[in-house]
Amino acid sequence: MEMREFLKHKIFSIVSDVAEFENVDAYVIGGYVRDIFLNRPSKDIDIVVLGSGVDFARKVARRLRTTKVSYFKNFGTAQLKYHEWDVEFVGARKESYRLDSRKPIVENGTLEDDQNRRDFTINALALSLNKRNFGELIDPFDGVNDLKRGIIRTPLDPLTTFSDDPLRMLRAVRFATQLNFDIEPKTLDAIRQMNGRIKIVSAERITDELNKMMTSLRPSMGWFLLDETGLLEYILPEFVALKGVESRNGISHKDNFLHTLEVLDNLSAKSDNLWLRWAALLHDIAKPKTKRFIQGQGWTFHGHEFVGAKMIPSIFRKLKLPLNDKMKYVQKMVQLHLRPIVLSQDEVTDSAVRRLLFDAGDDIDDLMMLCEADITSKNDATVKRHLANFRIVRKKLKEIEEKDAIRNFQPPVSGELIMDTFGIKPCKEVGVIKTRIKDAILDGEIHNNFVEAYNLMLKVGREIGLTPIKIDQRYVVPENK
Ligand code: ATP
Ligand code: MG
Repeated sequence: MEMREFLKHKIFSIVSDVAEFENVDAYVIGGYVRDIFLNRPSKDIDIVVLGSGVDFARKVARRLRTTKVSYFKNFGTAQLKYHEWDVEFVGARKESYRLDSRKPIVENGTLEDDQNRRDFTINALALSLNKRNFGELIDPFDGVNDLKRGIIRTPLDPLTTFSDDPLRMLRAVRFATQLNFDIEPKTLDAIRQMNGRIKIVSAERITDELNKMMTSLRPSMGWFLLDETGLLEYILPEFVALKGVESRNGISHKDNFLHTLEVLDNLSAKSDNLWLRWAALLHDIAKPKTKRFIQGQGWTFHGHEFVGAKMIPSIFRKLKLPLNDKMKYVQKMVQLHLRPIVLSQDEVTDSAVRRLLFDAGDDIDDLMMLCEADITSKNDATVKRHLANFRIVRKKLKEIEEKDAIRNFQPPVSGELIMDTFGIKPCKEVGVIKTRIKDAILDGEIHNNFVEAYNLMLKVGREIGLTPIKIDQRYVVPENK
C-alpha cells in the first residue's frame, strides 16, 4: 500500500519540515496508522519524536499558526488541536514497571523502545515523516499481517505486557470485540493467568473500555471473552451469577447468561443507544437472587424486575457509571421490562395501556424495543406469537396516546389550585386528591382535561371532609348530568 496517500494533510508536511529543520526524527504511530489499514480514517494522530515532544509541538504550532496547544510537561506530551484534527506529540520512551502500579518509570528511548512498549502488534505500526523515507512503514512485529488475519497479539511476551499494565487485558477484549478479531491463543492464555492483576486498574478506565465494547456491533463477544478469561469475576460478579442451568424433577430453566447476551445482541442490532444496551445487559440481573422452584409451577423468578432495579445503583456506583438520569433510565427499563409482555398475554385493556404509558413516559418506544429483543425462544411459533402480540400492544399504545396524551402526563389540576379551592396548606389531602385524579384518568373514569379533573377535585374534596372556599362556577358541571 502506498502510505504517502494518507499523509497528504498539511499537518504531516509541517511536522516533516520541523523534523528536517530541527534534525529530530518524527513518526505517526499507533491507532492512526492501524485505522488506515482498517479503512476507517480517524482524526486522532499520535506523533512520536526522538526528542522532546513538548518542544517539537511548540514549533509545529508556530508554523500552523495555532494557539490551541496544551502542554503536559510532567508527562512530556503536548496536544494540539487544528480544525477537526487532534494531534498528540510525545517523545519516544522506554518504560519499566513496578508491581503495584500501572504507572511506569520512563526514560528517553529509541523508536524501537517505543514500539516495544505498545500494547498490540496492530497498535505498534509507525509511518516515517522524515524527508529521507517519508511514508515508510516500520512494522517490527508483523502487525500488518495481524490486521489482515484479524489477530490481537502483544509485541513482547504477553505475560510481561499484561503484568506491566493490566488495562491492556481489557483493551485486548475491547479491540477484539470492536474489530471482530481473535485474540491469539498465547495472548488469551496470558490474560487468563494475569486476570487478578486487573485489581490495580481504576474503575473509570475499566468502564471506558466496557463502554467502547458495548457500542460495538456485537457486544456479546466482549462479555463472552471477559467470562472466558476470568476477568468478568472481578469486573461484574453479579453477571457471572447468571451462568448455568439447574434442574429439578426433570424441569430446568434457561441459562440466563446466554439468554441475556442474546437479548443484548438482538437489541444492539436495533439500537445504538448505549444506555438501552446496558439495560439489556442488566434486565435479568436479579434472577439468581429471586430464583425459586415451586411444585407444580417449576422455576420462577418472581419480582426479579423490582429487585433488579434496586441493584442498579450499586452496580453503577461500583463501575463508576454516571449516577444521574442515565442510571434512572436503566433502572426504569429494568423495572418495567415485563410489563408489555404481561400486557400482551392478557386481554389488552385501555386502562392497562394508559398505566404503562404513564410509567414509561417518553421511554415507551425504547421499552418496547427491549421487550422485543427479550424474545429469545428457540421455538419459531412462540417467537411469532409474541411478536404478533407486541404488534397489538404497539397499535393500542398509539391509539390511546393519540386519544389521551398520557406519555407526558401533566396533572390537569395543580396542587396550588387544590389548596386555593379548599383553603388548605400543603398537606396529605392535596396528595390524596391529586392521586385520585391521576388514577381516574389512567383508569378511564374521566378524560385527561381540566373541566373533568376540576369537578372530580370538588367531589373528592367533599368526600374526605374538605369544604371549598372558592369555586370557579364556569367549570362546574352538575353531578348527575
Ligand atoms: P481508540 O482511540 O480507538 O481507542 P487507539 O489505539 O488510538 O484506539 P488510544 O488509547 O488512543 O487507542 O492509544 C493510542 C495508542 O497508544 C495505541 O494505538 C497504542 O499504541 C498506545 N497505547 C494506548 N494505551 C496503551 C496501553 N495501555 N499500553 C500500551 N500501549 C498503549
Ligand atoms: Mg486513539
